[in-house]
Amino acid sequence: MFNAQIFTLYPDFFPGFLSKGLYGKAMSENKWKLKIVNIRDYALDKHKTVDDTPYGGGSGMLIRPDVIAKAIDNNIEDGEKIIFLSPKGKLFDQKKARELSKEKKINLLCGHFEGIDQRVVESRNIEEMSVGDYILSGGETAAMIVIDSILRLLPGVLGNNSSVIEETFENGLLEYPQYTKPQIWEDKEVPEVLLSGDHAKIKDWRLSQSEVITRDRRPDLWRKYKKD
Ligand code: SAH
Repeated sequence: MFNAQIFTLYPDFFPGFLSKGLYGKAMSENKWKLKIVNIRDYALDKHKTVDDTPYGGGSGMLIRPDVIAKAIDNNIEDGEKIIFLSPKGKLFDQKKARELSKEKKINLLCGHFEGIDQRVVESRNIEEMSVGDYILSGGETAAMIVIDSILRLLPGVLGNNSSVIEETFENGLLEYPQYTKPQIWEDKEVPEVLLSGDHAKIKDWRLSQSEVITRDRRPDLWRKYKKD
């Protein structure tokens, strides 16, 4: 069973989508488990303060290291993987999703305000991970991205496993265009090759479409694909 534990100041954010539909079903089948830890429960004073102003000046607040450490130490065993969602982390991608889907348990720490005190990152051996080159108001949406992309890779969670293999990024290319019924819609026809029943030809066509799209939209992926 895959275990996800999320440390957040906004615990209400999570259960919704993750406990319904496919992921809810997978949860009731014990394929995965979610635990939410409210960081505020580990505040050290009676006002439940979790943040304070940055040393050295600057705008905004930071979450205190002692509060985070207490939350971690009460909910994590030695050696567990802890990931802090942070725009200055290493970029999360499909390969990383696959890697993480093989873990027994992952712990995701969601920052808020201006972030968290750096010392706790070091002292608790926390890995920083970013979901993209943009700034979010908190790590919750980033954690959702990470969990969503992992869960769909767990065995038996999606009905059809080949759909997971053929997707964008899985072979280093963006996905080819897809079509369904009706065969003619607003005068546009589905590409003829897809109606041919010739599987080899369809495969070639899809690959060439993937290549054109990747070269055009993602020169970074294209260069890597050509090199490998
Ligand atoms: N001052 C920080 C940004 C803080 S944003 C900086 O300049 O690096 C507040 C919180 O949102 C962060 O602590 C982090 O948990 C989350 N966050 C924002 N952007 C993110 C991203 N691209 N990937 C992952 N987490 C992000």
